[in-house]
Amino acid sequence: MNTIGKHSFQIELSKNPVEAHLREELLENPLFGRVFTDHMVTIRYSGTRGWHDAKVSPRGPFSLDPSTLVLHYAQEIFEGMKAYRLPNGGATLFRPEANARRFGNSAERLAMPPLPEALFVESVRQLVRVDRDWIPSTQGSALYIRPFMIATEAVLGMKPSAEYLYCVVATPVGAYFKGNASALTVWSSDDYTRAAPGGTGAAKCGGNYAASLAALAQAAREGCDQVVFLDAAERRWIEELGGMNVFFIFDDGSIQTPPLTGTILPGITRASLITLARDIGITVFEQPYDIDQWQADAKSGRLVEAFACGTAAVVTPIGTVKGRKHNFSIGNGSGGPITERLKTALLNIQNGRAPDHYGWLDLIF
Ligand code: PLP
Repeated sequence: MNTIGKHSFQIELSKNPVEAHLREELLENPLFGRVFTDHMVTIRYSGTRGWHDAKVSPRGPFSLDPSTLVLHYAQEIFEGMKAYRLPNGGATLFRPEANARRFGNSAERLAMPPLPEALFVESVRQLVRVDRDWIPSTQGSALYIRPFMIATEAVLGMKPSAEYLYCVVATPVGAYFKGNASALTVWSSDDYTRAAPGGTGAAKCGGNYAASLAALAQAAREGCDQVVFLDAAERRWIEELGGMNVFFIFDDGSIQTPPLTGTILPGITRASLITLARDIGITVFEQPYDIDQWQADAKSGRLVEAFACGTAAVVTPIGTVKGRKHNFSIGNGSGGPITERLKTALLNIQNGRAPDHYGWLDLIF
């Protein structure tokens, strides 16, 4: 038993965990999201009992009635975060309270009950402690953690569910982007937008991702790794990639990233990089940037680097932009020194190789 507020986690350990030698093999070269740890966390919610029945148990399938609300109306939210192995063998989370806050904001937008932030953070710590042997220690790898919440009331009705299931699973991960390319090629989508004012762009809900899959498939057909979405109103302002925020770096050394206007996800990597960049004396603008201007600046040499960032992709250079009306390379097409500097600064903190001046680490053991 482990208690947080009035909640106690009941712990049931798996009777047949993955054998140690097999686990070690899987950790050698982890495939993103295909191999999972032995356990999961679940917490239930009902209108009458509130949050209850917090458990760490062997990972396994759910049984859902075919009329369960989430299967029809997609009342679902999730988070993505990582546990990092430290040089001393311990492990840390990175700003988990920020994920907890964002999860609460997503819940509010999707008319779901907020999970207390302390309970969110403790649920993640519990899973990482139980599955501590699953945190890889090779360079660039980590344990990716996926907390999520689904509407579980069995009723076909357009209304917020009266019952919910919160769950946390984890998967050891290496690099998000495979292949030898050192930079992304992105497709500027004319046909599809990701989010509109008043919509759910700032929430991390499954529906946003389902709606972006057709654009991603189009990007793949065009030989691109990712989509860069433009704003829905003018189809002009760069918003973000399907699962990453975006930064632009200019020849005067300044950096720009689209502002948080409610249509893009407020990335925790984005916020951390803004802090790191300002602290090393880089000027950061949170201002809209026009796709035509991006092309003109890349061609004139005013724009020297661009990168995408997020928990999964960390910091990944954008080398080439394609689209019906756009086709250009950035710098030498393979990243640059400021991107590299920011990436290293962030990774060094996350992996415990640099001092944690900001109090971003949450040491688990
Ligand atoms: N934008 C979108 C749409 C995302 O899905 C993500 C990933 O979670 C991000 C940005 C980056 O957010 P974070 O840095 O918190 O991982």
